[in-house]
Amino acid sequence: MHTVFCSPSRYTQGSNSTLSLGKEMATLGLGGPALVVAGNSAITLLSETWRLSLGEAGFDFQVYRFGGECSIAEIERVKRQAREQSARVIVGAGGGKVLDTARAAAADLDLPVVNCPTVASSDAPCSALSVIYTDDGAFLEYRIYGKNPDLVLVDTQVIAQSPPRLLVAGMGDALATWFEAKTCVEGGVRNMRGGRSSQSALALAELCYRILLRDGVDALAALRNQSPTPALDRLVEANTLLSGLGFESSGLAAAHAVHNGLTAVPHTHSYFHGEKVAYGVLVQLVLEKKPHSLVEEVLDFATKVGLPTTLAAIGLGELTGEMQNQIAARSTAPGETIHNEPFKVEARMVAEAIRAADALGREWQRNHGVSVAG
Ligand SMILES: [Zn+2]
Repeated sequence: MHTVFCSPSRYTQGSNSTLSLGKEMATLGLGGPALVVAGNSAITLLSETWRLSLGEAGFDFQVYRFGGECSIAEIERVKRQAREQSARVIVGAGGGKVLDTARAAAADLDLPVVNCPTVASSDAPCSALSVIYTDDGAFLEYRIYGKNPDLVLVDTQVIAQSPPRLLVAGMGDALATWFEAKTCVEGGVRNMRGGRSSQSALALAELCYRILLRDGVDALAALRNQSPTPALDRLVEANTLLSGLGFESSGLAAAHAVHNGLTAVPHTHSYFHGEKVAYGVLVQLVLEKKPHSLVEEVLDFATKVGLPTTLAAIGLGELTGEMQNQIAARSTAPGETIHNEPFKVEARMVAEAIRAADALGREWQRNHGVSVAG
């Protein structure tokens, strides 16, 4: 097995970096017309800047308003619009699902893709894969592409205006990176690109975790004040670049598989990817029988930034046996990344670990005087 490391061709991050979007695209040899697939808040915040930045660089462009779900039907709608416009590049601007949709459409049409995340809520922007959902929001499949985005451009001034809960969700997604990477590397399994993980990818995953612990709380405070600070800058890099490179070049394990399992129950649909992944991290730590000190470090961090540590905090306060089995079955479906764990994982073990993680979270809350969410 060869060592494979992958990344976007370019990553640009900074305050008001959207003003450089057109120039960056031209520098990379990309040409118009461009189709900008954008979420509502991206359209409100950035339309004028796109006009300036893309206009100055000579790009004709049209904006497609994202329909809300990264589903097969939505991807087809974007492709139709791109064909009608004879687009030569697709720019995704918005949250993870917008970017996933833009990447899926670009891959199908064999077009270059630019990702401009307006929130730091997941590790999706840098990756060469999309998570496809049904129109109702249940996990359907991963789609893996030949190459990573041509450009990922992160405007921290825009991120600073995003809802705090989304930054926290991004921390939940990033929280999984180091634990899943380590499990995959220790087990010698293939990474998301089918190769062996590199020392570089593992080092980036560990750095990601260290930045979360050090800067997570301060970054959240900066976001609440809507002003970029060095801590927010570092945290956005951890959530977006380090988490993305770490998971893709090292691999996923139980945490993300449990996330996929949780989406099988509609009660969790109003919670973000990273929130469910954070709960998946606790389940992974239980499955792997990690030392209590490490579990406490994670519980402490999660509580400080407001990530869920109990079933009630992801909508499963009234978890029935049937729901529990449904989640466990989906988490351990054939091909799931839970099978990257170094031991055989059966549905029954996941069902038990889901309850055990909840008990740990509730006990920790009781011992630290945290009022329990309903
Ligand atoms: Zn993720």
